[in-house]
Amino acid sequence: MKMRRKSDLPSKVCPICNRPFNWRRKWQRDWENVIYCSERCRRLARTNRPEK
Ligand SMILES: [Zn+2]
Repeated sequence: MKMRRKSDLPSKVCPICNRPFNWRRKWQRDWENVIYCSERCRRLARTNRPEK
């Protein structure tokens, strides 16, 4: 079992703005499903879908 430090929060990179963002308390129950750093980026992702 690994010990977690309080300062050692997980982080992800937002695919919309390409910025890393850290775990937030409001996401504590949903961190696995968090993809975007903010509501704004989430909306952008919806309206501005990249076509591959
Ligand atoms: Zn973002």
